[in-house]
Amino acid sequence: MLMERVDIIGGGIAGLALAGRLDPGRFDVTVYEQRPELPAVGTTLAMWPAAQRALAELGILGAVRSRGSIIKAGALRSPSGDPMLSMEGEGLVGVSRPELLRLLDSAVPDTVSRVAGRVDRLPSDAWLTVGADGVKSIVRRDFWGERSAARPTPFLAVRGVIPGTPSAEDVGEYWGRGEIFGLAPAGDGTNWYASYRSALGPDGVDVAEALELTRTRYAKYSPAVRSVLSTAAPGNSLAQRIWTTPPLRRYAQGNVVLLGDAAHAMTPNLGRGACEALIDAVNLGKLLNEQPLKEALAAYNRERVLRTQLLRLASSLMGGVALAQGAQPWRDALVKQIGKRSKRTASRSVT
Ligand SMILES: Cc1cc2nc3c(=O)[nH]c(=O)nc-3n(C[C@H](O)[C@H](O)[C@H](O)COP(=O)(O)OP(=O)(O)OC[C@H]3O[C@@H](n4cnc5c(N)ncnc54)[C@H](O)[C@@H]3O)c2cc1C
Repeated sequence: MLMERVDIIGGGIAGLALAGRLDPGRFDVTVYEQRPELPAVGTTLAMWPAAQRALAELGILGAVRSRGSIIKAGALRSPSGDPMLSMEGEGLVGVSRPELLRLLDSAVPDTVSRVAGRVDRLPSDAWLTVGADGVKSIVRRDFWGERSAARPTPFLAVRGVIPGTPSAEDVGEYWGRGEIFGLAPAGDGTNWYASYRSALGPDGVDVAEALELTRTRYAKYSPAVRSVLSTAAPGNSLAQRIWTTPPLRRYAQGNVVLLGDAAHAMTPNLGRGACEALIDAVNLGKLLNEQPLKEALAAYNRERVLRTQLLRLASSLMGGVALAQGAQPWRDALVKQIGKRSKRTASRSVT
């Protein structure tokens, strides 16, 4: 049987998931990845239920659950740590990025070829070229044009994992004036992140400098936040500017298709980017396995564009609320009111 050649540019979450889902009996798949090895430092990614279904289709949900942790509840807190609103975890599973990549990698069949190194010029003559090369995708640049290039937001994300689990009274997301800080258990460690406007970057942010800036910025936060930041070190932390992509009306044209951040990089405020990358990959793989190319790509556009573009927008709106500056006192008053109302509703339904 004639095998169709599929070139996947990028062996991150989206690229590996697609390589794991394509039928090895029909497709001759090559994954091109510039990263020489899996990242050593990686914070927790929250997997929503739809992403867990995608992991189940790849046969690795059990392993992700056993190596990750179930996120049960959290709270929105003021900088001093007072809870403004309590939230249920809605069945989320937290897994570290390196662990997720390792498990996705283990689901890729041996028949898939791997090419190490950065791709600067796309290989030609493939039956299908897949852009799974993240927010700064060269596939999107080459086929969708310069106007589709990634854009830096004004926000810095500084994050890491430190040893020792946090106390339940400290877990949650702290909302200040133009800044957020998150803190949650991750295995036997603590996953933390901070985000605020900064002129650092947009490329090559120095981690030590970003950590110093973060310590100064959060110096008046609760003792739990200060203690995490005093333990964090450049070796167990990451710092980067957040980049997003402009809206696209379709993710496939001709015999080229985009998935994951290459198609719809969003701000991390809803914790959905990696989840949607997995769903893109599993859906696209299934469509390609079952339908001719043109029909499969048309169906992929129909299934994925509107949903992910709405999420991209919602993430950015959520980021605007969480990182509010001038409107912060009104925002906090509103959040507290919602918190009080939901407590009253809960106590009424118990009695
Ligand atoms: C601070 C922060 C927190 C986040 N938290 C969450 C969360 O809790 N939950 C969630 O679902 N999402 C979260 N996300 C989003 C998530 O990280 C991304 O959406 C996800 O990584 C996208 O996966 P991807 O495979 O599309 O892209 P990437 O993960 O960027 O993978 C792209 C791959 O392509 C490779 N590559 C790029 N260019 C080339 C080239 N030219 N040649 C060869 N290889 C190339 C890269 O090395 C990389 O391995 C967060 C993001 C940030 C910044």
